[in-house]
Amino acid sequence: MGGFGSGRRSRYNSKAITEGQHSIDVRWLKKRGYLRPGISGTLSWSWRGEQTGIIGFRMEQDRMGLNYKHKKNGGEWEPVEQTITFYQTPCNYGGHRKWFICPHCWLRVAILYGVGKYFFCRHCHDLTYGSQQEDWPDRLMRKARKIRERLGVSRDLSVPILFKPKNMHQDTFDRLRKEADFADHLAIVIMGKQLGLIRHDKNGPFL
Ligand SMILES: [Zn+2]
Repeated sequence: MGGFGSGRRSRYNSKAITEGQHSIDVRWLKKRGYLRPGISGTLSWSWRGEQTGIIGFRMEQDRMGLNYKHKKNGGEWEPVEQTITFYQTPCNYGGHRKWFICPHCWLRVAILYGVGKYFFCRHCHDLTYGSQQEDWPDRLMRKARKIRERLGVSRDLSVPILFKPKNMHQDTFDRLRKEADFADHLAIVIMGKQLGLIRHDKNGPFL
């Protein structure tokens, strides 16, 4: 596992003690008011009183920039910049809730982990070491089909979801439709990646 070097300093500073894991929780950022555009600062992690990592962050309306240094065991320190895009869902009682979009799989998550060079979701870090990646598109498509069933729409993913079932709130319908489309789209991105059709950079996969 690599470590993290010093990020840019600024007037906001926070320290979270986790169990040796370098993670960023979007709810934690929100609680401290760090999700507001224009806020920048550093996040650091400690283990038994020793600082184990520090990164610089910069908030924008729809994304967060991270900068830090990373080194592989025995290697040179290397500057890393990563952009994390946010995904917004409406709350039941007004306002929005922000999520991270994992830059590796595009899934909506609350926590990203800096296990290697980049911050990815837990699944992606597990997948790096596991063989479950093959199942991933299947699971996403199953999820999309399940939502389609609930909406009374064809299980065929190529049929667009157009009409809201009677007795369903518009908000619920909008959310479910978005989730089904997102899961379906993601499955295609992942399959494309597995087939080598999609390239990848620090901002996530692109066609
Ligand atoms: Zn991921």
